Amino acid sequence: MTDILNCTKSEEVFYAAQDLMPGGVSSPVRAFKSVGGKPIVFDRVKGPFAWDIDGNRYIDYIGSWGPAICGHAHPEVTTALQEAIDKGTSFGAPCVLENKLAEMVIEAVPSVEMVRFVNSGTEACMAVLRLMRAFTGRDKVIKFEGCYHGHADMFLVKAGSGVATLGLPDSPGVPRTTTANTLTAPYNDLEAVKKLFSENPDAISGVILEPIVGNAGFITPEPGFLEGLRELTTENGSLLVFDEVMTGFRISYGGAQEKFGVTPDLTTLGKVIGGGLPVGAYGGKKEIMSMVAPAGPVYQAGTLSGNPLAMTAGIKTLELLKQEGTYEKLDSITSRLIDGIMQSAENNGIAINGGHVSAMFGFFLCDGPVRNFSEAKTNDSELFGKLHREMLHNGIYLAPSPFEAGFTSLAHSEEEIDKTIEAFDKSFNAIKN
Ligand SMILES: *Cc1c(COP(=O)(O)O)cnc(C)c1O
Repeated sequence: MTDILNCTKSEEVFYAAQDLMPGGVSSPVRAFKSVGGKPIVFDRVKGPFAWDIDGNRYIDYIGSWGPAICGHAHPEVTTALQEAIDKGTSFGAPCVLENKLAEMVIEAVPSVEMVRFVNSGTEACMAVLRLMRAFTGRDKVIKFEGCYHGHADMFLVKAGSGVATLGLPDSPGVPRTTTANTLTAPYNDLEAVKKLFSENPDAISGVILEPIVGNAGFITPEPGFLEGLRELTTENGSLLVFDEVMTGFRISYGGAQEKFGVTPDLTTLGKVIGGGLPVGAYGGKKEIMSMVAPAGPVYQAGTLSGNPLAMTAGIKTLELLKQEGTYEKLDSITSRLIDGIMQSAENNGIAINGGHVSAMFGFFLCDGPVRNFSEAKTNDSELFGKLHREMLHNGIYLAPSPFEAGFTSLAHSEEEIDKTIEAFDKSFNAIKN
């Protein structure tokens, strides 16, 4: 290791946490199981940085797994939250801020004509599935290997990063009768989807996917894939659902659907629209959304849904993103970063395959191309683990799994990017052979 990082306090806290919470964490990937080493316990975050409780500073490329697209603790977001908090934290009654955020989402996201706010991406995906079935009167759903749609029973089949990382093909406790209705296909494989449709006539409620995959590492749709799914679902009277929990307001202001010009019937959102507070949402055509209670019979509710704090953080974040030049800036720093990473790996004779779209990037340590989850698994995981540890010692906090995408933010300047590339140079050099 290049520098010896003192993480004594992190180790103590994580050790104590083992007895208090399963695996010492509130969400599995945080436990660093797939990269080895001990997780870092954070004290505070600001802009592109995170500080641990031992006082080490890192340049952060997770951004709380996506929400921190304006940089951590953006002053306009925290000030708005401080003002909102004086009016109370939760109303459990309608509030004006819900209208405001709903208007912003509807204006931004092409497929969304009406929206329901929930508290997480998992909740959004769970609810959208019920709606897909109710609207079509069909029970089956097609998902793709490696795509993650939260941890609801029906989606815990070939569900990507968290599950893959732990080597659990599935989860105990999920009834077979439930997942019997979940059909899976390899990502980017239209023929496989066609086959599922012809084998299950009039039984498939819809197809749900990450329009750019971030939960099996970073995988982009091949030209024609999204368009093909749009045609296939329409032909078969079933719905196309984009899970934009990760890509929404990150790939462009209108999400991946705006970027690729393919409009799904329904969309799920999360992460960025909460600006760091717990928010999820699902929305789509009025005709479909009108089936949700109390407008229609499809039940779904939430005690804290649409609370003023969460709405405030979301509104402020979207206002910041809407400013001129935002996505050009995100694209330019992210491309500078991934070009630097690829160049650095190549200089050190390490096989790499990577890319970016807007403020989302990723790389696999293997010869490409990577078009689906089984190709993603040719990544050299042991080498990635070494790289991850070296990078931490060089002050860079990357996602602790090769099956996660990386995230940049408006707070990452060229200076941080260049420091990061230097750290990659040092780290690749230290781990080669
Ligand atoms: C993170 C994520 C979810 C789950 O969201 P949570 O807020 O963690 O429940 C669902 N789908 C995708 C694509 C995600 O990236």
